[in-house]
Amino acid sequence: MSNREADGSFVSSAPDVLSSIGPCPICKRELSGHSYSLLASEVVDRKSGQESLITFFESLKNRDWKRLLKAGNWEGLSDNVELYGIVCGGAVVLVVIRSPFELYDDDEILLVETVAEEDSRLLLGLAKDKTWKTLK
Ligand SMILES: [Zn+2]
Repeated sequence: MSNREADGSFVSSAPDVLSSIGPCPICKRELSGHSYSLLASEVVDRKSGQESLITFFESLKNRDWKRLLKAGNWEGLSDNVELYGIVCGGAVVLVVIRSPFELYDDDEILLVETVAEEDSRLLLGLAKDKTWKTLK
């Protein structure tokens, strides 16, 4: 469940969901203290949104970061998928969450994937202007 504040920024339960993936897949320690950012988002289940959702997952699979980071669609009255990046050392853990419109539905983790350091470097270079926060 995510909301958008008046200024357009996200108020998301993401930190809780991210913490629920357990220890960091890279360093095997607690995720608290790791930096994370919302990298991209896309709308689910709207007919006109299908094409962009396919593009979203294809870009992710193909490590097409430029294309992926352009995905910034978000619809308050639909389910959304959100891509988060968690940084550990020189590598990134990608977490894709399905954030339901329904208030009482839980966010669902669709994918947790570690990106190789070289790809991570490219991704972090492109995402340096995103808002990075620290997991508590
Ligand atoms: Zn770690």
